[in-house]
Amino acid sequence: MSIACQIHGPLDLRLTEETPPPLGPHDVLLRLGAGGICGSDLHYYQHGRVGAFTVREPLVPGHEASGIVVDIGERVSRVSLGQRVAINPSHPCGVCDYCQAGRGNLCRKMYFLGSASVFPHAQGLFRERFVMGERQLTPVTEDGISLGEIACAEPLSIGLHAIHRAGPVLGETVLITGGGTIGCMSAMAARLAGAAEVIVCDINDRALAIARSVGADRTLRSDQVDPASLADLAHVTIEAAGSPQALATCLAATRRGGRIIQVGTLPPELPFPANSLMARELDYRGAFRAHLEFDWAVQAIRSRRVDVRPLISAQLPLAQSQAAFELALDRSRSTKVQLITE
Ligand SMILES: [Zn+2]
Ligand SMILES: [Zn+2]
Repeated sequence: MSIACQIHGPLDLRLTEETPPPLGPHDVLLRLGAGGICGSDLHYYQHGRVGAFTVREPLVPGHEASGIVVDIGERVSRVSLGQRVAINPSHPCGVCDYCQAGRGNLCRKMYFLGSASVFPHAQGLFRERFVMGERQLTPVTEDGISLGEIACAEPLSIGLHAIHRAGPVLGETVLITGGGTIGCMSAMAARLAGAAEVIVCDINDRALAIARSVGADRTLRSDQVDPASLADLAHVTIEAAGSPQALATCLAATRRGGRIIQVGTLPPELPFPANSLMARELDYRGAFRAHLEFDWAVQAIRSRRVDVRPLISAQLPLAQSQAAFELALDRSRSTKVQLITE
């Protein structure tokens, strides 16, 4: 038997027992190494929904995880018993026009773990033991890299994808609104891509301190800065806060001809000063999940080209999921809270 954490509706999180299914030839039985609680998991917990995705049956959340191989199907070749692995939660179909064109994150039939975007829901990774196809797994054999770090591959892939969507940033100034996990991952990705200066803004001092510890050159309190001082600040701005005020900061700070990348989830309807896009020739681009960047993220973590350790603020046993979710909701105390097995 194995325990799993399930969301039944707003603020209704329960632990349940389940038996993992039998292994097919290319399947792997894993024990959870570490599983990070993401903003979307918190939305499901607080509101029973994320945007248009509503919980309609019990949902196991969780899509940022590492695991340890417990058993393997007879044809498995990518991993072996006892190995620690990064888990890619993204299952694009591989055959639709978007997949064929190399943009699998836009797949028409995406199956993304821990998501109510499909029904029956794509059950996630906050469970003690679970079965995954081997192609979702990348072994990490470096001893010094922890299961908590490996579990950060998915959120790092989001930051890498945001910077990838921005195009070349070598020698440029990048401003990031939001110093949470995705903002910090975007800051590290910008440094990796050669940005000359990386600036992070937020309204929370703790978030800004963490952003500096992962390499932001400069931080700003967006609620205290004079808007006029933002003009021409950055070639590229990354909106990772998901707030209309942060988007306004991006519009004010992006140089003429620059790019704004929207990676945070904004409220469904908002007034938008589109004329500034027109008159200043700004490019406003979306960044949604990630594709090839997952493998880049695993590589950056296993070599510690990117050091995600300052972002992991707490690790709690799966049996204390409720307390972990409550802790993760408190930005004054948490960046990335992870669930672990004992
Ligand atoms: Zn996430
Ligand atoms: Zn597809």
